[in-house]
Amino acid sequence: MDIKKYFRKQLLDWHFTANNRQLPWKEEKNVYRIWLSEIILQQTRAGQGMKYYERFIKAYPTIEKLAKAPLEEVYKLWEGLGYYNRCKNLHNTAQKIVFELKGKFPHTYETILELKGVGPYTAAAISSFAFGLPYAVVDGNVFRVLSRFFGVDDPVDAAKGKQIFQQLAEECLDERNPAAYNQAIMDFGAVVCKPDLPDCTNCVMQKKCFAFQQEAVALLPVKEKKTKQRSRWFLFYVLEQNGTIAVQKRTAKDVWANLYQFPNEEYTEEKTWKQAVKKDVSKWLQVNNIRSTHQIVSITKPLKQQLSHQTIYATAVLISLKKNEKKIKHFEWKSVAELQHLPFPKILNDLLNAKILQLFQLNDAVIKQKT
Ligand code: SF4
Repeated sequence: MDIKKYFRKQLLDWHFTANNRQLPWKEEKNVYRIWLSEIILQQTRAGQGMKYYERFIKAYPTIEKLAKAPLEEVYKLWEGLGYYNRCKNLHNTAQKIVFELKGKFPHTYETILELKGVGPYTAAAISSFAFGLPYAVVDGNVFRVLSRFFGVDDPVDAAKGKQIFQQLAEECLDERNPAAYNQAIMDFGAVVCKPDLPDCTNCVMQKKCFAFQQEAVALLPVKEKKTKQRSRWFLFYVLEQNGTIAVQKRTAKDVWANLYQFPNEEYTEEKTWKQAVKKDVSKWLQVNNIRSTHQIVSITKPLKQQLSHQTIYATAVLISLKKNEKKIKHFEWKSVAELQHLPFPKILNDLLNAKILQLFQLNDAVIKQKT
């Protein structure tokens, strides 16, 4: 039997007889739900994405509800999931479909691909799952399975390698049942041919798997570039004045874009906080021509958050500004009750939960971490 036919047959047999991976969006035919799950799953593990998917379906059971929701509210629901541009695109696209396309979801691969936040992988997934169109998904799971089974050692992160894998994926696709095939290869990569410790002993492809036969499982797939890691140190200033707290929206194209934060300074290395605090606070007061006296209430222990390409360290410095002084203008001043409706990065919610607000004796209204 032709090797690609063998691969397809083994994969589908496994899918229909042994694949018991449970996911809330599996077998889903509603295109809104499929699209929502695929956007959530970009750069997110299925286990983490599941609770967000359920949360979104509960809050916005239809695309109309999502389109009509205020953006801030949608961000609040997305809080903690990261890659916040996805959230903005999700809301934009819902509005486009509801208000411009009269609620009709595009139903060809090309028109789906034109939607904001949809790349070739997501377009193939939506096309095949919702409309039965013959497009093969190619993501990290697929690279891994194909690379190991067929022994392809072209780098998966190089243009040429991507092309080779795309073509191979299309040749393996079951055009009569692209939805089942795509689901099968994604699940197979997630539960059998896993990145670490693949279950080769019980694998149905073992007999003809290149990597297994050649003892090259750990060597495939190949990556050309090593991802650069960087570390960032943030000093967040929780400024309190008359029971209100200073916040600002992050507008830069960076982590946490469009979420709220406390005024902060970023450093490329760990700083002695005493020097930094004095300098930073006087800078803000000077900019606003304010001679306010202030009292440092407390400094939290630094928290660490590992993102895919960066390590973030965050320390909160709690400062009480003199009452009845004029407020620093370029910050928004919010009551604790108002803070609870604003979307914050996970690390700031963690800091808030680390008793920041209790220290200001505002303990009845600590923001609950939503994730
Ligand atoms: S034998 Fe191992 S490496 Fe080959 S497809 Fe199966 S799980 Fe993957």
